[in-house]
Amino acid sequence: MEKKIKIGVIGAGIQGVCNALFLQKKGFNVTLFDRDEPGGNSASYGNAGHFSPYASVPLNRPDVITDVPAMLASSRGPLAIKWNYVHKMIPWFLRFLLNCSEQKMMHTAKNMHQILDLALPAFEELFEEIELNGLVENKGIIYVWNDQNLKSRELEIKIRKELGVKQQLLSPKDIHDLEPNIKPFYHGGVFYDYARHARNPKKILLKLFDNFIKKGGKFIKLNIKDINFDDNKPIVRSDVQRFIFDKLVITCGVFSKRLTDKLHENIPMDTERGYHVHFKGFDHLISRPVVYANKGFAMTPMEQGLRVVGTVEFGGLDNPLSKSRIKNLIMNAKDMLDELPEHEDEWLGFRPTLPDYLPVLGPSKNYKNVFYSFGHHHLGWTLGAVSGKIISKMIANESTNLNLSAYSSSRFRT
Ligand SMILES: Cc1cc2nc3c(=O)[nH]c(=O)nc-3n(C[C@H](O)[C@H](O)[C@H](O)COP(=O)(O)OP(=O)(O)OC[C@H]3O[C@@H](n4cnc5c(N)ncnc54)[C@H](O)[C@@H]3O)c2cc1C
Repeated sequence: MEKKIKIGVIGAGIQGVCNALFLQKKGFNVTLFDRDEPGGNSASYGNAGHFSPYASVPLNRPDVITDVPAMLASSRGPLAIKWNYVHKMIPWFLRFLLNCSEQKMMHTAKNMHQILDLALPAFEELFEEIELNGLVENKGIIYVWNDQNLKSRELEIKIRKELGVKQQLLSPKDIHDLEPNIKPFYHGGVFYDYARHARNPKKILLKLFDNFIKKGGKFIKLNIKDINFDDNKPIVRSDVQRFIFDKLVITCGVFSKRLTDKLHENIPMDTERGYHVHFKGFDHLISRPVVYANKGFAMTPMEQGLRVVGTVEFGGLDNPLSKSRIKNLIMNAKDMLDELPEHEDEWLGFRPTLPDYLPVLGPSKNYKNVFYSFGHHHLGWTLGAVSGKIISKMIANESTNLNLSAYSSSRFRT
């Protein structure tokens, strides 16, 4: 009976593909839509490739309010703003500030921890069906910092300890032993030895997608412009085509807002823009991802070379790439490593971020047959499989044994 239920999934980034696969495992008939080829140019293609199950401490925290002005003032810092976009982001910033109290920070941390803790086992369920051929490495992830930023590091370490997150503090000697090519500017660090990294996020996404197709899933390349209903059944529409489903899942990353606005949800999602460049052939300089915590950027050894990723830039979806942010990444990388050549592949991507730094997972508050899986900000790659698993259980009316109220779209009052 369940097998006949038709489900549409809009968006074939890591969220869409993982949702589609878990829904398929439940026996549903799944059609996946994307306006591009899967793994195109989306956030799921260009991210840092970190599987970061430890990263429960959010960016909404009391000390951020005092730190932000200095971060914005520094051209070498992790934060930037496109000033022509500030007025559009004011409502988001105000909501963000309301979420920076200690109590709200801990609410986010606990609810991120709940799903992050299940992230790797959920991926295992998908990975056991494909040939990974070394595309996922189990070498851990290192964070390093210098002494200017100790206060925030202490807060993070304390919260992780309270939540039971496994972390190993590193002395400068430990860091040198793990990554001898990093210049010794650092004061200390943390090692998450169970974290993993992708050697090529796009290839992993395509392998998962191919498995979905092999198991009978359908893919339609189409830009979905609107959603209406026929007797509660969602109809997805492009300019010229329409498809009717029993249930629908929206997994369009930050672009989900264009569709949820049409469903009168008013979900306050905006983007934190991020960048990457590659230093081709230089991935051998490090063995695992290294994050320079003070400067908010990371280096990951990938098939494409050394991928240098970072920056939080507030500037919406339409502003062009900022050359100054690319320059910032290059200078930061050269501060950490000698020998780097000319960079290649300047990329801008869009993190989908809610002001409380929790994703939206679950049914629409207005339409019971529409479900959401988006808004995973800096952690949407890590949280792909677990989000898909949760949504598939919700749609199959199975218990998840989790308290999911914190992720509901109804948490936002208009
Ligand atoms: C610089 C950077 C570094 C990051 N590093 C990490 C990291 O190391 N670890 C981590 O866990 N996370 C990381 N992230 C976050 C992570 O990449 C994102 O949260 C995640 O990829 C979002 O996945 P998604 O599937 O929700 O959205 P996306 O990857 O944006 O995919 C959405 C898809 O929907 C499609 N789409 C949109 N609108 C429509 C429409 N109307 N009709 C049809 N299709 C549509 C798009 O074409 C796209 O394919 C990083 C992000 C950035 C930008």
